[in-house]
Amino acid sequence: MTATTRSSAPIPESNTSLLARRSAAVARGVATATPFFAESAENSRIRDVEGRSYIDFASGIGVLATGHRHPRVVKAVQEQLDHFTHTAFQVMAYEAYVELAERLNQIAPFSGAAKSVLFTTGAEAVENAVKIARIATGRSAVIAFSGAFHGRTMLTASLTGKMVPYKQGVSSAAPDIFRLPFPIDHRGIHVEDTLRSLSSLFYGDVEPSRVAAIIIEPVQGEGGFYVAQPALLQAVRKLCDTHGILLIADEIQSGFGRTGRMFAVEHSGAEPDLITVAKSLAGGFPLSGVIGRAAIMDCVEPGGLGGTYGGSPIGCAAALAVLDVIQEEKLLTRATAIGQAIRSHIEPLIKGGVAPIANLRGLGAMLAFDVVKSPGSAEPDGPGAKRVVARALEGGLIVLTCGTYGETIRILAPLTISDSVLHEGLEILSSAVTQSR
Ligand code: PMP
Repeated sequence: MTATTRSSAPIPESNTSLLARRSAAVARGVATATPFFAESAENSRIRDVEGRSYIDFASGIGVLATGHRHPRVVKAVQEQLDHFTHTAFQVMAYEAYVELAERLNQIAPFSGAAKSVLFTTGAEAVENAVKIARIATGRSAVIAFSGAFHGRTMLTASLTGKMVPYKQGVSSAAPDIFRLPFPIDHRGIHVEDTLRSLSSLFYGDVEPSRVAAIIIEPVQGEGGFYVAQPALLQAVRKLCDTHGILLIADEIQSGFGRTGRMFAVEHSGAEPDLITVAKSLAGGFPLSGVIGRAAIMDCVEPGGLGGTYGGSPIGCAAALAVLDVIQEEKLLTRATAIGQAIRSHIEPLIKGGVAPIANLRGLGAMLAFDVVKSPGSAEPDGPGAKRVVARALEGGLIVLTCGTYGETIRILAPLTISDSVLHEGLEILSSAVTQSR
């Protein structure tokens, strides 16, 4: 290996030259949705290195409920930088971690006392929620859903319900994980079918007394923005109570105001025992956590939870500012209004048969629709969705796909987006979908 200077290329770099460097230096396994390189970003707009500006309906995969570089978040981080950047909470604790835990405990969507623990990534939060559930119950089995996404680490990829690309080539999954079909009415899978599958799982595959937890996204993220209906969450809650199983709500993508409530599970009236949080929690800084019922959380002995960077002071400072911004700028109400604006833009395209799209769904500002073979068709069109994304990009809008066949266009605009930028983005999206007829 030879040492090289960091970059001898002329400045400024173009997207093309950076792409070439990227393919030579970065592992192929990390995919990027756009061929452009970021230069700067502000609220709901992001500029590339060639000076082109894009409206951001991706929010770095649902991370930026408070937008890019919210001034409150930037200020909080700058202030923290002037004090200290790292101690490791396990070496010397700091107030921001404790204060954030206090505030997360206050907003936990269940009755009774809560406690929290902080980590760095979403997958780490899920790993630890399962670990806590296993220790608290003394049981090992975990039930997850089809189409679920819980991460890319070995345990979380095993919980994830999509083989390609997340588990491709990984020969053995983590043991003791069972799967239920996630109800999707338009695919003919209803809540009763899922509950029947759960009975047969208990009958034929794993006795309920061996199950530590059922993990569910209250609104599936990568799986296609399918909402877990209140009837499902309530029935699952009841079964958990009957059998001493813990209910884990993975709110990593759906939490922090995205659906018009702080947590999406609040729409259902069902209370989880543990909640995983990340993404919009810290407005662009790597921070995640598990919030849970205090008695369950405290089953783990000191030293059993943590990590060198878990609950970094910078992430905590950012998250405290994010919680203030959500409250002060009334972002929960704003999420509902953004959702309504998206619906009134997209619904007429479906109803009028103007574009090959269908199944507009979601909660609050967490909305998605499918690209189908032709208007009125039910056949998913993954390549068609890819074309819509490419056309939107040409028009200056970043938007992502998701879903079983990559057929779903999901909208994750910052909740701080202005009406005019939202409208501009939706116009670009409308013209991208109508052109694909
Ligand atoms: N759970 C859900 C619901 C997610 O959406 C994601 C990320 N897309 C994860 C877990 C994993 O988070 P991370 O990528 O930070 O590990």
